Amino acid sequence: MYPFTFTKVSDTREALNAGRRGGRYIAGGTTLVDLMRETVERPESLVDISDLPLREVTVTERGGLRIGALVRMAEAAAHTKVRTTYPVVSEALELSASAQLRNMATIGGNIMQRTRCTYFRDVTAACNKREPGSGCAAREGYNRTHAILGTSDACVATHPSDAAVAFAALEATVNLMGPDGERSLPFADFLLRPGSTPDREQALRRGELITSVEIPAHPRPLKSGYLKVRDRQSYEFALTSAAVALHIRGGVIREAKIATGGVGTVPWKLPTVEQHLVGERPSARLWAQAAERAADGARPLAHNRFKIALLKRTVERQLRTVGGTK
Ligand code: SF4
Repeated sequence: MYPFTFTKVSDTREALNAGRRGGRYIAGGTTLVDLMRETVERPESLVDISDLPLREVTVTERGGLRIGALVRMAEAAAHTKVRTTYPVVSEALELSASAQLRNMATIGGNIMQRTRCTYFRDVTAACNKREPGSGCAAREGYNRTHAILGTSDACVATHPSDAAVAFAALEATVNLMGPDGERSLPFADFLLRPGSTPDREQALRRGELITSVEIPAHPRPLKSGYLKVRDRQSYEFALTSAAVALHIRGGVIREAKIATGGVGTVPWKLPTVEQHLVGERPSARLWAQAAERAADGARPLAHNRFKIALLKRTVERQLRTVGGTK
């Protein structure tokens, strides 16, 4: 470890002032403390925001759901409204990390967590995300778990959050508060693809704080669920995953919301698959046809070509689970 200052704040204004001066926000600390121990992250100033009043799950005026940034993953997963309205979110949270981590980690921290690329965490390896301009050891190294979608020459790391995949599928927004006021960003704009600046992962301005993640109201009934495929059945990151939400009325698919994880540099939405489904009647044949489009645009690396077929099968299976097989 190395020296840093630690301040605990009790109100939002105090937090924003500290953030504007360059302080790094910390709550559950389940990612940041690990990275500090490994000297991958070296913040000079930490601002503990655990006591801020951002720990509620509320129904919005329009019938959506607002999950406070400091709600613990386990609390969100168990919340009656989340479980009954958006099971895809509960399932994604329950399939994340370990029970101990889910009890500590917050929703805001979960979507901010950094990649599990082993080269990123090895301070002796070249990594443009950790040290801009140093290169990318994963490109020529062992890249079995890396991304096949949304990659750039500079970085091919996947985004590790399962909950973020569910939020992306449901087209959630991220509510922010900063020194210049409040704003909301669509989930798709909040997390950034690597491009030539993989060290910049979110569209946050200096000192901005996540206050909540908001899921818009979707037409009812909405059936949804999350499938995670990994090397072992617990405490492991996704090789592929699929968050699927379907609104089926009168035997016809009226709305389809789908995103995948473990394959993209950000949670990867599948608009062409969604379009293929809307207006159609559920059938095994339809699920298979739609899933064929899941890996469109993929650019596999030396060791992860298998993800193309695995992704298609993951999406097909989860469409079948959520939408039925008739
Ligand atoms: Fe770093 Fe990204 Fe390359 Fe991993 S894939 S070594 S995070 S630049």
